[in-house]
Amino acid sequence: MQFKAILVEKKDTGQSAALKQLGVDDLMEGDVLVKVSHSTVNYKDGLALTGKVPVVRRFPMVPGIDFAGVVESSSHPDWRSGDAAVLNGWGVGETHFGGYAGYACVKGDWLVPLPKAFTPAQAMAIGTAGYTAMLAVIAIEKQGVTPADGPAVVTGAAGGVGSVAIALLAKHGWHVIASTGRPEEKAYLEGLGAAEIIDRQELSEKGRPLGKERWIAGVDSVGSHTLANLLSMTQYRGAIAACGLAQGMDLPASVAPFILRGVALLGVDSVMAAKSRRIEAWDRLARDLDPAKLEAMTRTIPLEETISAGEAILAGKLRGRTVVRIT
Ligand code: NDP
Repeated sequence: MQFKAILVEKKDTGQSAALKQLGVDDLMEGDVLVKVSHSTVNYKDGLALTGKVPVVRRFPMVPGIDFAGVVESSSHPDWRSGDAAVLNGWGVGETHFGGYAGYACVKGDWLVPLPKAFTPAQAMAIGTAGYTAMLAVIAIEKQGVTPADGPAVVTGAAGGVGSVAIALLAKHGWHVIASTGRPEEKAYLEGLGAAEIIDRQELSEKGRPLGKERWIAGVDSVGSHTLANLLSMTQYRGAIAACGLAQGMDLPASVAPFILRGVALLGVDSVMAAKSRRIEAWDRLARDLDPAKLEAMTRTIPLEETISAGEAILAGKLRGRTVVRIT
């Protein structure tokens, strides 16, 4: 049985990605074979497809850090043929063949059941970006800050994590301040629930150790000076959830917000999160994410357009979420 797949290979000239035909025997070891129906384009997929940052650590590799599909066969006790499942992370698309293929062979422990509230396409419209946004919002809530305490800021607002974070925070009554480099997306961001839009340049340059207090909470997918400035402008006892590095991996910050305002910096990792945290996040997404907003932030492409979409996401040209239709 042959199926289409994107394969990233390493050559003398560097790495390159191309559409190929694979068979089930070409897949890597695993105890569950999934017929993949949908995957997505996340920022990390852009890095894997282009090789801009070496996230692929084994060649050849099928990228695609997440997918939804139906179990074809299984020797894992939790999974039977016909079960609908979702996978996010665990090194899939980096060290283990991922979602940009008609089939994926993975460990059953990595899969979670497709939430009943979502079709496979909707689950991938959420994808790793949306599930990470949910983890970030849960982290803020666990810190005990509430919409009554002040506004919440979201950086990288028009991107995948940012778009879902805005919709989730607005649903819970937060006054959401969306930071974007795309002022033309004002109506889009307001449609998701943003109350204020700010220019990301306000946050992207080197700032002061402590600034005027502007928000009590934040979801940051940008890192670098932006995260440092977010922290320096966070109100007393506020919390910022950091999950991304679209501006940079550095954090040129001072300890002033931590020791003078008791600000908390909450790290968010989706890749190795325990299964219980994943199920909690998917349950919350099923309850909290408005399907109309999800649709408004999503477009769907065929597998053939995925390589160019990977370049576009790194250039900051993709809005919201991009679903890849596989079969
Ligand atoms: P997107 O590309 O969809 O979103 C990133 C957004 O960041 C862009 O849309 C843009 O928003 C903004 N941005 C891009 N470049 C810059 C820059 N140079 N300076 C400031 N802002 C910039 O990516 P995702 O939403 O998929 O991922 C966002 C980040 O989160 C990535 O770094 C990704 O690796 C990380 N991530 C981490 C996870 C984890 O487990 N910790 C899981 C998922 C994602 P705008 O145009 O509105 O300014």
